[in-house]
Amino acid sequence: MAVPVVTAIAVLALGLAGWRLLDGNGDTTTLADVATPSGERSTTTETTVPTTTTVPEPSITVGALEAKGRPVPVVFRIGTFDPVVFITVDDGGIQRPELVDHVRRTGVPITMFLTERYTSGDGVDYFRQLQDLGATVQAHSITHTSLRGKPLEFQTKEVCQPVDSYERDYGVRPRYFRPPYGNYDTNTLLAAQSCGLKAVLWWSATYNDGQLELQEGPLRAGEIILLHFNDHLSQDLETLVDRIEAAGLRPALLDDYLDAAPVSP
Ligand SMILES: [Zn+2]
Repeated sequence: MAVPVVTAIAVLALGLAGWRLLDGNGDTTTLADVATPSGERSTTTETTVPTTTTVPEPSITVGALEAKGRPVPVVFRIGTFDPVVFITVDDGGIQRPELVDHVRRTGVPITMFLTERYTSGDGVDYFRQLQDLGATVQAHSITHTSLRGKPLEFQTKEVCQPVDSYERDYGVRPRYFRPPYGNYDTNTLLAAQSCGLKAVLWWSATYNDGQLELQEGPLRAGEIILLHFNDHLSQDLETLVDRIEAAGLRPALLDDYLDAAPVSP
């Protein structure tokens, strides 16, 4: 696996000028600018990103961490100058054998955010097969209930119980949590922090049944793309990777880039 070039996505704590991204729940989250290191150029054609830095365009990518004042950062997009995007797949209730074949054949790197109620028991063998092929296991609650507004104790169980059970089942402790429906609040972040999680993950794009929807702009380096385990996931992965490559990008493993980035203020 190629060594990723990770740029400093956690400059957010420095309070650099940001702009607003509207999430699906009407909240706004500040994204920070990231300076461009010399020598590395993104293939993105984005030229309209507002910025207060002096680096030449189009080499600007978007830092995705909002860590300032929060127990753990919330990540929407990775700031990187590698021409990479990140495929994440949620839930796990539908476990099609052809997906395993597809991942084995293509080697496409995916980060799995599994809902414990769908993935315990017999499901463990299925996701272990994907794990053996390079996919990683992250947490996506026990019951897939919306966490926003729920008490800390309730949220802590939903966030942290799968972290422990996945560590037992898959031999690796999850490092990230994705809230069901993207709904989180401060208690979600406190819960994530309490069981050692490093970040709460959102996304900057979705792909379903051939339809790519982006939060803003064209597909570019650093996008975190959300898919789901469903009946057409293999086909979606096939066509999505074609689209990624047509944009001059390639899929990479989210964990490699996020783990290497400084995610704490
Ligand atoms: Zn979900």
